Amino acid sequence: MKERIFLSPPDMGGSEQGLVAEAFASNWIAPLGPFVDRFEQELGAYLDSHVCALASGTSALHLGLLTLGVGAGDRVYCSDFTFSASCNVIRYCNAEPVFIDSEPDSWQMDPDLLAQKLDEDDKAGKLPKAVVVVDLYGICADFERIEKICDRYGIPILEDSAEALCSTRFGRHCGTFGKVSGFSFNGNKIITTSGGGALVSKDESIVKRARFLATQAREPGPCYHHLTIGYNYRLSNILAAVGCGQMKVLDRHFERRRAINQRYMAELGNIDGIGFMPEPGDAVSNKWLTVMTIDPNVIKKTPEDLRLALESENIEARHAWKPMHLQPVFEPFECVGGAVCEEIFDRSICLPSGSSLTDDDQTRVINAVKKYL
Ligand SMILES: *Cc1c(COP(=O)(O)O)cnc(C)c1O
Repeated sequence: MKERIFLSPPDMGGSEQGLVAEAFASNWIAPLGPFVDRFEQELGAYLDSHVCALASGTSALHLGLLTLGVGAGDRVYCSDFTFSASCNVIRYCNAEPVFIDSEPDSWQMDPDLLAQKLDEDDKAGKLPKAVVVVDLYGICADFERIEKICDRYGIPILEDSAEALCSTRFGRHCGTFGKVSGFSFNGNKIITTSGGGALVSKDESIVKRARFLATQAREPGPCYHHLTIGYNYRLSNILAAVGCGQMKVLDRHFERRRAINQRYMAELGNIDGIGFMPEPGDAVSNKWLTVMTIDPNVIKKTPEDLRLALESENIEARHAWKPMHLQPVFEPFECVGGAVCEEIFDRSICLPSGSSLTDDDQTRVINAVKKYL
C-alpha cells in the first residue's frame, strides 16, 4: 500500500522544536509565559489588532459571544454552512441559533437573507444579540454588505475566521471584520499549535475582558475573589512556542495552499461536470481546503463514491460541512432557507490541501480522481 496522503496535516517549519526547548530550558512550562506574549504580539502586529491566545478556536468563539453580551434566551444568527463549533458556542451561552443559508455565488452567508430576516425580526421585536459570520474554507464572507446590514440594527458581528488566517478581502485581513473574531490553530488549519486558538479585536477592552474570563475571572487583589463565572481557556506557553515557529512560515503555507488549489483547478477543472468553490474577485483566499464539486447531471457519481475510491488508494478526502439545519442536534432551531447549502453539500468533496503535500503526492491525487471519474 502506498503511503497515506492526509487531507490537511500539520506542517512544521523547522524552528518549532528549538523554541519549545527554549521554553523548557527557562522552565516556562505552564500555564502562561513569554511565548504566549510573543505569539500574541506577532499575530497582533500581523492583523493590526489586539489578540488573546487561547486553548482552541472554539474557546475563542465562546468568549467572543460572551464579550458581546450574549446570554440565556438570546437569539444569535449563524451561517448554516459551517463546522458545528461555530454554533455549539451559541448553545454554551444557552442562547438560540438561527441559521442563515448561503448565497449560491460564493457559498458564504447570504446578505439578502440576512437583511430579510433582520427586518422581519425587527418588526416582531426579537432582533438577535449577535451574528456569527463564517469565512468558509478560507474565503472571506461579503462583509462589505453584511456590515452595512448589521449596522442598520446595531447588531455586532462575531467573525469565525478559524479557517481564514492570511486571507484578505476588500484589502483587509480576514478576522478584522467582526467586532470580535476567532482563529483556530487546530492541527488541520493553515498554521497549528497542535491545539489552540485566538480571540482578536480592534477593541482592546474586548480582548482584556476575554483574557479575564479565560483565566478563571479572578478579580484583582490578594484573595481569590469572583464576581463572574470564569473559564480555563488560555494557551500554554509550550504550545505558544510552536505557534511562534509557525508564524515564520505562515506566508509560505499560504503560497503553497494557493499553488495546490491552482494546480487542481488547472488539471481537473476542464473535466465536464467538475467545478470548484468560487472565489470572489475582490477576495484573496488562503485556500485552506480545495473544495471540488461534481455536477450530478453530468457525472453519475457522488462525492461519497469518489471519497471511497480515493480511500482505496490511501488518500484522505472529506465531505464538505454538513449544513447545521440537517444536524439532529440543531433540529429544534430555525433556519432561513437551507436549500442552497444542502445542494452544495450534496455535490462537494474536499481534496488533500495541506502545505506539506508534495508535487508527486498531488499527482497521485489528480490521477486517482481522473481514473475514477
Ligand atoms: C476548526 C474550526 C473551528 C474550531 O476550532 P478548534 O480550534 O478546533 O476549536 C471553528 N469554526 C470553524 C469554521 C472551524 O473550521
